[in-house]
Amino acid sequence: MFIDTHAHIHQHASDESADIVERATAANVGAIITAGTTIEDSQLAIDMANSHARVFAGAGVHPTDIEHRLTTDDLAKLSALAALPQVVVMSEIGVDHQDKSPDKEWQAEAFHAQINIAREHSLPIVFHIREQADDYDAHSARDVALSILKETSAGELRGTAHYFQGRWDFAQELLDLGFNISFAKTLTRIKDLEETALQTPADRILVETDSYPQTFKKNRAKWTEPRDIPIVAEKLASLRGTSVEEIREATTKNALVLLGSRAKIVESVL
Ligand SMILES: [Zn+2]
Repeated sequence: MFIDTHAHIHQHASDESADIVERATAANVGAIITAGTTIEDSQLAIDMANSHARVFAGAGVHPTDIEHRLTTDDLAKLSALAALPQVVVMSEIGVDHQDKSPDKEWQAEAFHAQINIAREHSLPIVFHIREQADDYDAHSARDVALSILKETSAGELRGTAHYFQGRWDFAQELLDLGFNISFAKTLTRIKDLEETALQTPADRILVETDSYPQTFKKNRAKWTEPRDIPIVAEKLASLRGTSVEEIREATTKNALVLLGSRAKIVESVL
């Protein structure tokens, strides 16, 4: 089965959880990693993982949610969450330089500190890098993120550039540092991503949906959900001239390699 390596399905109304997981299972998506975006939200992700066998959690504070410098107390809370058995990745963490994003220095400190927490617990990191105003050629977020990833030797922890939207030269830098590249449905829309989808080695590709409650879409049936993973896999298969089955086998294997010592509990539900 597929693994949706990055979603936020715990943010949906709790009475929807069982149906979302069931629709995923029917689409051959057997495990979902739902990532927290604040300390409180990470606890909700863990709560959902506790009540659904196919759901696992990420703990972390998203760069756009860094409303103040993370305090010693915040970091202690995150570390306590990261120690829980349902937490399989440190996520969602990263760097976001869009116009209205929080203070860049706070973000950089938080990214650095959360990589250190991941190291304490031997957790892989799943990170977000977003440039100002979706300008893929503005390298400011990329430069900051790369320097922090290098400084902390984060490649040793294993990790993934989630919802990757950069270009191939950037993907290459991340691959060289040891990270995976994760694709979402954006691959079906953004032509410039195709080169990366084609060139990334088969053992470094992951799939995800990044699903969250898309309240801006009036038709609930059109909200992205983990059940949409096969759409990403089909696009990857057609670009790479391979089958959906091969994409499934490769991406699931890659996700399990990424998860390291946490792979066993995830594999057991597939
Ligand atoms: Zn996300």
